[in-house]
Amino acid sequence: MKVYNTLTRKKEEFVPMEEGKVKMYVCGPTVYDYIHIGNARPYVVFDTVRRYLEYKGYEVTYVQNFTDVDDKIINRANKENSSMQEISDRYIEEAFRDADGLNVRRATIHPRVTQEMDGIVEMIQTLVDKGFAYADNGTVYYNTKMFPEYGKLSRKNLDELIAGGSERVAVDDAKKNPTDFVLWKPKKEGEPSWSSPWGDGRPGWHIECSVMARHHLGETIDIHAGGEDLIFPHHENEIAQSEAANGKPFARYWLHNGFITVDNEKMSKSLGNFFTVRDIAAQFPYEVIRFFILNGHYRSPINFSRELMQACQNGLERIKNARKELDFYIKNAQDTKMTAEEKTRSAELGNYKAQFEEAMDDDFNTADAVSVIYELVRFSNIAVKAGVSKEYALMIQDMLDHLCGVLGIAEVQEDTVSDEDVAKIEALIAQRTEAKQAKDFAKADAIRDELAAMGVTIKDTRQGVQWSKE
Ligand code: AMP
Ligand code: ZN
Repeated sequence: MKVYNTLTRKKEEFVPMEEGKVKMYVCGPTVYDYIHIGNARPYVVFDTVRRYLEYKGYEVTYVQNFTDVDDKIINRANKENSSMQEISDRYIEEAFRDADGLNVRRATIHPRVTQEMDGIVEMIQTLVDKGFAYADNGTVYYNTKMFPEYGKLSRKNLDELIAGGSERVAVDDAKKNPTDFVLWKPKKEGEPSWSSPWGDGRPGWHIECSVMARHHLGETIDIHAGGEDLIFPHHENEIAQSEAANGKPFARYWLHNGFITVDNEKMSKSLGNFFTVRDIAAQFPYEVIRFFILNGHYRSPINFSRELMQACQNGLERIKNARKELDFYIKNAQDTKMTAEEKTRSAELGNYKAQFEEAMDDDFNTADAVSVIYELVRFSNIAVKAGVSKEYALMIQDMLDHLCGVLGIAEVQEDTVSDEDVAKIEALIAQRTEAKQAKDFAKADAIRDELAAMGVTIKDTRQGVQWSKE
């Protein structure tokens, strides 16, 4: 399996540190609002990476944090006359609701910054003791000049950064070098704070992830992931902190997802093209949002538009319909064994699996993996029409479920229609069949209308009447 490693700018063979085990950290959202469609991309993409790793037999420890200490959360709390804790608790819960809707599995551990303060203070102290950090009036800075490899992930050169005055390098007179960054900042009046050897205050953003990754996964981890905007400075700074404090390489593979634009423009609140996942879920089912994200390769930019979402909805419907047809076929088919010809053809089924794995093994190419599923859907529809044996239909169904399950799409829903409704619907269908046999078409049509009013659509097939309820 090959993965593109931002650190080396190459696709590399994936070999975890410990055989059969993967330690993976994904930067999570700052919780001051609902998650937006951009945030949904790393959620869905790295959930799929995890599912595929598990499919390959790895035991994955997946850590995704919540940043629950931040200026944006404090501002929101002040505006609403609330507390930072209340705001972050609320939006963590909302983020979980969206993640559940998107079929994103819970991480093994979801650490929160507020619960990691001891570790944060300890790591900053180590950096000070080792000469990588300095304190000035209650603020502690990381001294980037002390870490010769600074810039190795983003391929930025320190001198260029300083001369160019990059917008991401904050100006501050107390810093020894313009690229130095804050590890600890002093308390401001009315803000939450924690005690430290440098006075009361709170941590900078970057140190949080270094500490949470080490606490829950160890000093060296296999995969570190997040959106591409995090490469600099966030991930660059994480490397500087972790490698200086631990004296060991931090993450072996760095994976970054591309950005989502809206109508080909950068998504921003001021342009009015900013969508939360919740906004979109009011217009399209959550599963379509997941499918939309997986229709592109995770490193390519993707553009969000209503037309594309519509196309994805239709595509997903096609897969789900094929699945339903198969289900119905199998329920109603006689228990027949595969014919000799089917036995030969069943090898073709294995080809779909091989192609799917080939796509996913190539740096998680979900776009190609989805194409393979479409081909399997075509294969399945033809088989059902041709009236294959039940044993063969079951094999196709297994394969379709198997591949869709890896991507977390078109999963089989438990039947939500009550037993009472099922009995009523089936009685009406039986009456309609009788009416048709008696050539009483007016009655048959009336029953069809009655069923439609109940939200039931019916379809006459060779195996009998197929029905579904909204
Ligand atoms: P934030 O809450 O802004 O720190 O973002 C949380 C995660 O979402 C990070 O991994 C970001 O890189 C990612 N992210 C933010 N905006 C977008 C976007 N428009 N497209 C893709 N990923 C994004
Ligand atoms: Zn992070």
